[in-house]
This record gives sequence, structure tokens and C-alpha cells, in this order.
Amino acid sequence: MRKTLLTLSIFSALFSPRLFSAEFQRNNLVSDEVITQSNNEILNTIYDIPVRPVTGTKRVLLVVAKWSDGSTTDPDVQWQQVFSSSPSSLRSFVKNSSQHKLLLEPVKTANGKQMLTPDFGNKPASCGMSDMLTRAKASAAAEGITPADYDYLFVAVKCQGGALANVPGQNIVLFGQGSSSHVWLHEFGHNLGTSHPDMYVNCPTNGDRVETPEKCDVKTIKDPGDPVGGGKSPYPAITRAFAGWFDNSTMAEITKSGRYGISSLGEPGPQLYFIKLPQQNNYMTLEYRKQVSGQSASGGIWVRYSTIGGIVKSTLVNGSPNDASLNNPQLVQGKTLIDADGIIIKVCSINLNSAVVSVAVNGDPVIDCAASVETPMIESPEKNIKVTYKPLFSGTAIPGAEINIVKSHSPGTLLAKTTADSNGSWSVLSSIALPLGKYSVSARQLIGGKHSSWSANQPFVVEDLSLNSPTIVIPGKNDETTPLPIFQGSGALPGAEVFIAKSYHPSFIVASTVADAKGNWQVASSRLPLGRFSVSVRQKFDGKSSAWSENIAFTVESLPVSQTPIFSPQENATTGRMPEVTGTALPGARVIIVKSGSPATVLGSATADANGAWSSKLTTLPLGAYSISARQTFDGKTSSWSVNRKFYVSDK
Ligand SMILES: [Zn+2]
Repeated sequence: MRKTLLTLSIFSALFSPRLFSAEFQRNNLVSDEVITQSNNEILNTIYDIPVRPVTGTKRVLLVVAKWSDGSTTDPDVQWQQVFSSSPSSLRSFVKNSSQHKLLLEPVKTANGKQMLTPDFGNKPASCGMSDMLTRAKASAAAEGITPADYDYLFVAVKCQGGALANVPGQNIVLFGQGSSSHVWLHEFGHNLGTSHPDMYVNCPTNGDRVETPEKCDVKTIKDPGDPVGGGKSPYPAITRAFAGWFDNSTMAEITKSGRYGISSLGEPGPQLYFIKLPQQNNYMTLEYRKQVSGQSASGGIWVRYSTIGGIVKSTLVNGSPNDASLNNPQLVQGKTLIDADGIIIKVCSINLNSAVVSVAVNGDPVIDCAASVETPMIESPEKNIKVTYKPLFSGTAIPGAEINIVKSHSPGTLLAKTTADSNGSWSVLSSIALPLGKYSVSARQLIGGKHSSWSANQPFVVEDLSLNSPTIVIPGKNDETTPLPIFQGSGALPGAEVFIAKSYHPSFIVASTVADAKGNWQVASSRLPLGRFSVSVRQKFDGKSSAWSENIAFTVESLPVSQTPIFSPQENATTGRMPEVTGTALPGARVIIVKSGSPATVLGSATADANGAWSSKLTTLPLGAYSISARQTFDGKTSSWSVNRKFYVSDK
């Protein structure tokens, strides 16, 4: 069955327009087809997972047309399904699934209805997508609304039934009316880049074990956790990741065996883990959905095999192969999934808002859920360093674990409590002001109901540090920047809030962030006007603010998004299997590195730092001669591909 995944070519999905058709199964609604967009979508990656970010406020023009014979769908019903404040509307659903990262707003129209209800003329024998879009655009233009005034165009007409959507894209056409908002949720999932998901069913079982995917059957268009698969639930984690709604604190790659805590989808904490599969662009993804009150299905881990390129094509594992309803695919507590490539996922515990899985990779045996938990590492404050009275505690632990920091030998004196993120990092300010002088703390972690022992004591010295102005390091005085520069600096108290403002305009804040454990900070600016600009910085800690720093004036220019040069490996060099590639781009630009001539074969990605430098460790390359190319994307513009860089891959 792995073959099914392999033959799903990312290439065809990316570069040739295809028409998928399928029966639309819910709400007796019609047939649903998908048109794969063939144009050059801007692709990005997080941890080498291709993503296609859709964030911020997007303007939606809804056109509910009638024919010259008067036949129409109900404009008010369509509007309600798309925009109403009901939790089931597309707008509410997307706001909820994206955790407010994507907001769909109706375009204002002269009729005051936040939609257009034009006459499309004589009804054709059969309605087509491009014809309907053309008519809708013409109707909009007649009202003075041009394509520059909207991001999405949704059209509803009374026709043969069914719906069409671009995957990914910005257009939906409904040829009828749904009995609920479901069709909109489904089609918008396509717009986000999700192809119809399938399900692995009838997988072999052995006690609490489920074996995937080789001997499973495939049930097409079935995923009760995804409206695009006919489900009622919010968009799955992989859709959210692809849409750029996660970051490196909420999603992570699992590369080593261990236990991992995961929060229920939509709750704070780790949301998605993925494991790279040997086949290019193939991943196994894990999410946790808690038990929904009033429903009998228990909480559990949802495992999908996903092929991710220009679009996402997932196959959900039915973790309850004996359940004919196919509506309880989650792996419940005690269940183990054994993948043909040697990945083992055991569900250790399920709590209300979080779960713990033990994941074995690289052929390792699975770690016993009851094994003792190692103590967390405290990285800051460093030993014997001078800190302020509310120090920043930070370190590493098991992803998703709860961390408690206490006064040494005084476990009842809880100084701070936090949760490790998806990569195991944690950081929290002391909630208690510590006395001046020598002090010492200890930490332990809790996961799946099991405590580690207390860590070795970490001593430091509390001093009355003064709250100085931080220093701006980048940009330097009189540098040239883009309208979206990255500010970098130092000299703040660990954990302090840092504010960068236009000089002499303290309420004109262009960026703010929190200083790290060394007092360094870095943050992307909001958009600055072209020309000379000057900024100043100050920090705020425990309610007190420093003075503003000296002014740094620089010149904002519209710098070209040109080809990104590759510095290393050098032409004709010999490298290892996973070479580090470096180059320069505009500060903050996203860079992807691909196989030459094969832009869907993403080998690595990076974000250029405040100086424009970037580096990326590539995925494992085949031995012998190899050639790569890179390009940068900045502020919505993408450069052409760099000149091919040829080198030799050796395992010596
Ligand atoms: Zn569909």
C-alpha cells in the first residue's frame, strides 16, 4: 500500500492541472470536484516540510448570483454559512482552527449586504467554474470592485449541483446550496492545499497492535477529522501546519526515540509531531484530539501518512480496524502502531488536554511508558552568574512535559511552572522576587503522571542589576535596509520585554520581543516607510522601564529580491551525505534549496538572519555527482533560481 503514496506524484500535483472527481458524501450535497492549481505557488518550508502560509486578514468577495429566469440559491443562507458569527460558519471555523491566525472578512458592498447578488443572465445548460468566475468578476467590476479589492472569490449559483475549488487557491464555486456550512469548510480546505484524504482500513492487528500500511486497504475520501474527508471536526494538524499556523514551539520533527507530550488540538502546547519517511516528501504525522463532551468517542492519537509538496495528500490510519463505522480512527491509550519502516508509536497515556506517546525510530525498541523520567536540564541562569531578582529560568526537557522550578532543598517554594514546547525547550521568569545574595534552584519534570527526580542544584547570585537601555546591533548607523528589517541587539535583562520605537515617537512601536537568557534579542520590524528612518530601543522588566537608547538612523530602500548566491559547498567540492549549504539573501527572507531542475524536490530550507546569512543542512543525498539550486522569497516576492551548484557526494 506504500505504493499508493509513492505513485502520487508531487510533480503532477504541482505542475499539471488535474481534475479529481468524487462523490460528495455528507448532507446529500452533490458531487465535488477539485481543480489543482497549476501556477507557481510560493512554497516555503518549516523543518523541510513544505508549507504554503495563509495567515492574516483575507478579504472574501461572496457573489450569490441569480439567473434571468429568477432562479437562485438563497443569498442570506449562503452568507450565514460563510460569514455568520455561528461557530459552524466558515469564518468562525477558520478562526478557530487557525487560532486566530487567519481571519476571513467579507468585502463591503454598496448594497450593504457584504456580498453581491447580481444577475448572471441566461443560465447555460451546464455551469463551469471559469465561466462563473468570469461572470462574477464582471459583476464585481460593474460595482467598482476590482481583483485588487479581494483575496478570495466565492461564487454560488443554482446549477447542476456540486462544487469546485482550487487546490490550493483562492476560488470556490458552488453550483447549489448546502444544508449546512459543510460544503464551504470542505472547499476551503481544498483552497488551503488539502487534497481529498483517504483512510487505511483493515490493517492487520495483533492484540493492541496495528500494523501499517503495507497490508492495509485504502478507503477513499474518508477522514472523520477533516471536513475535506467528510468529517465534522476542525481542520487537522497537518492542514494547520501547511497553512503556516504552527511554529517551532508547536510542531517538531521526531528524530530520536523517546516519550513525547502532545496537547489536544487547539490547546496551548505541542500540536504536531512528524517523522520523515524514506520516500521524498512523505511524512507520518501525529496529533491528539481529546474526548468531546457529549460524544462517546474517547480521546486519542490520530496518525496520518502525508505526502506534502504543492498540496497535502493524507491517508489516515484507522487505529480501530474492527470498527466498521470508521469514525473512531484514533489510537487510544495502550494501543501501538507498528509501521513497515520500523517506526513504532505507543500511546502511553491520555489525559483531558494532553497525551503522551512513546515513539521509536531508527529501528530502536520502544521505550517503556513506565520507564523512569530523566531530570530536566537547567541552562539558565548559568552557574554562579549574576542575575536580577526575577531571573529567567530556561532549559530543556521532554517535549510537552510540565516543569517545576523550586528553591533548592525547599520543594514547597515553587518559583515557576511552565511546559516544554514541541522541541523540548522551556523558559519562564521567576514568579517570586528572590532575595539578594547567593541563591540556588532545582527543577523536575512531570509527564504522563510520572515525576523525574530533582535536578542538581543550580547556584547563582542575585544582585540589584540596573535597568539600562539595550543596544541595537543591527541595523548599524546609516545601513540600507528593506522596509521589513530585522532588529538585533543585546544588553537587556533575560526575559525583559524589548520595545523598538520610531525616534522621538515612543508610542510608534515598530517591533517588540522578549530578551533571551543572555539578554540578546532579535525581532522583525513592522513595515517601515521608504527613506530615512530612525529608531530607539528600551526594555521593560517587572513593570519598570529603562530609558530609551541612542538613536540609530538608517535608510529604508526597496531592495531587489535577487538570486541568492550559494557560498558552500563550493563548485566541484566533495561533501558528505548531508552537506551544510550556506549563502546570503535579504534579512528575514525564506530560502529553499532544491535538486536542480526538480523544484518539488525540496532538500532544505532556511531563514536569512539579520545580516542576510543563511545555512541549511540538507536531507540525505545520493552518492555521486549532485546539483542544487536555491531561491529566496521575501515580502511576497520570489527570486529566480540561483545558478546550479554542482558537487560530489561521498560517504567517506
Ligand atoms: Zn472535495
